[in-house]
Amino acid sequence: MTNGDVSAKPARRVLIVEDEAPIRELLRLHLSLAGFGVDEIGDGAAALDRLRAERYDLVVLDLMLPGLDGITLCRAIRAQGPNVATPLLMVTARDTESDKVLGLESGADDYLAKPFGIREMLARVGAILRRSERAGAAVDPSRRVHSPHVVLDADRRNAIVRGAPVELTKQEFDLLYLLVSRPGIVFSRAALLSRVWTDDVYVTERTVDSVISRLRRKIERDAQDPELVLTAWGVGYKFVDVA
Ligand code: CA
Repeated sequence: MTNGDVSAKPARRVLIVEDEAPIRELLRLHLSLAGFGVDEIGDGAAALDRLRAERYDLVVLDLMLPGLDGITLCRAIRAQGPNVATPLLMVTARDTESDKVLGLESGADDYLAKPFGIREMLARVGAILRRSERAGAAVDPSRRVHSPHVVLDADRRNAIVRGAPVELTKQEFDLLYLLVSRPGIVFSRAALLSRVWTDDVYVTERTVDSVISRLRRKIERDAQDPELVLTAWGVGYKFVDVA
């Protein structure tokens, strides 16, 4: 019996980092049924060693871990090593907006609160893998990103919005580039500041809001009713996720 081209592809590899054995086993079972080759680790420090040594296609990471917590681990693997861009789903027993923001700021692609349903977990995994594949396909060596409405070329600093060129300042361009490269991901104002205004000391979170306003006047059909750069109330901003 063959599975056609499915069996010809090497299995995608996931690392599950979770200290609670029943949850780890549940994740292992369903991710292997979904076709992943599964490795699992219950300790944060051991997970960091593994993630510095081996590249994975997906990491499912518990927030509360012995050895090293999930936020610190996430920041460490995003800073350097083979998993700087690996899709990462953070799982946590806590379900507050601040935990979610902290998780996403530390570099997670999405966030899942326990207790979770298997279908929801698999849906989130599928969504972050699709986003990552789109971003991987979109960010080519000439450093272009695109969505259905926006094409950005980082080398030429060209922005094309709905087929027409748009003049953007450096900050407007960098902000939009970051948002478009991670559609659907909410960036807090602090996260945007730290990534876009890397050289500027005298900026505040209000600076982000004013650049977002100017950007919207340039790229939205109606800046008061944005369709591309969306507000996540009380948190920050995200680029529309067109599935
Ligand atoms: Ca835990």
